[in-house]
Amino acid sequence: MTTPTAVITGASSGIGAATARHLAAAGHRVVLTARRAERVEALAEELTKAGYEAEAHPLDVTDRAAVDAFAAALDRCDVLINNAGGAFGLDSVASADPGDWSAMYEVNVLGVLHMTQALLPALIASGAGTVLVVSSTAGHGTYEGGAGYVAAKHGAHVLAETLRLEIVAEPVRVIEIAPGMVRTDEFSLTRFRGDAAKAAKVYQGVAEPLTADDIADTITWAVTRPPHVNVDLLVVRPRAQASNTKVHRTT
Ligand code: NDP
Repeated sequence: MTTPTAVITGASSGIGAATARHLAAAGHRVVLTARRAERVEALAEELTKAGYEAEAHPLDVTDRAAVDAFAAALDRCDVLINNAGGAFGLDSVASADPGDWSAMYEVNVLGVLHMTQALLPALIASGAGTVLVVSSTAGHGTYEGGAGYVAAKHGAHVLAETLRLEIVAEPVRVIEIAPGMVRTDEFSLTRFRGDAAKAAKVYQGVAEPLTADDIADTITWAVTRPPHVNVDLLVVRPRAQASNTKVHRTT
């Protein structure tokens, strides 16, 4: 049997890197992509040394020409994990920078579109393909200061839901994983442009935010179901977070 190939975007940190480790351990050849070449190369080397099949391809998902060239050079693709994304700022609608909104739309929505369009022929050709979108609970409800990210993640959710309708006759399933609060090293730092104090405050007093491994585990579970089983949407939050705005904090 041929080893299935999983392409993972945003594999240089957080959920993407953890997903690479989990999918490799579950028997996939993993193709790691992100803009930071040295990060994905180091992870691919680590996985290869551990006996897994892994390779790294530096890639910006907002660069369509680069995405097309990447897809053209790939021999096969069974699983596409659209994970690259992020939030820039936590500003009100009244004061947000439209540039941040554009950047969030570019990576969280158009990045998913570029990768999915480019790899769909290979996913169909695999005979049992999977497109997985890491959206967010921000794709399903809003919160103050979140509108730009919330709008973009709603876009990612709509892309997944619409694609599922459009390719129902193809041998490709479309899975959406919507995480709530996940404590990763970089997500909040990126949102607050490197302000570590503000980033730490997001998780302050929350007993156990989710970890990148929790989401990687969920992704790997969904991907390793039999091909006829389509997990449409999974919302995963830490127990201490009942909604986007209701979080139990001890301090
Ligand atoms: P990280 O900031 O650690 O990961 C973001 C990843 O996306 C990085 O690997 C980054 O790599 C990559 N990336 C960003 N822009 C681009 C680009 N233009 N092209 C290619 N890769 C890009 O955050 P998380 O691991 O926490 O988040 C992963 C996903 O999960 C994101 O889509 C995020 O929105 C979503 N999410 C996160 C939650 C959380 O609480 N942490 C909750 C819900 C959803 P590089 O900079 O090397 O390109």
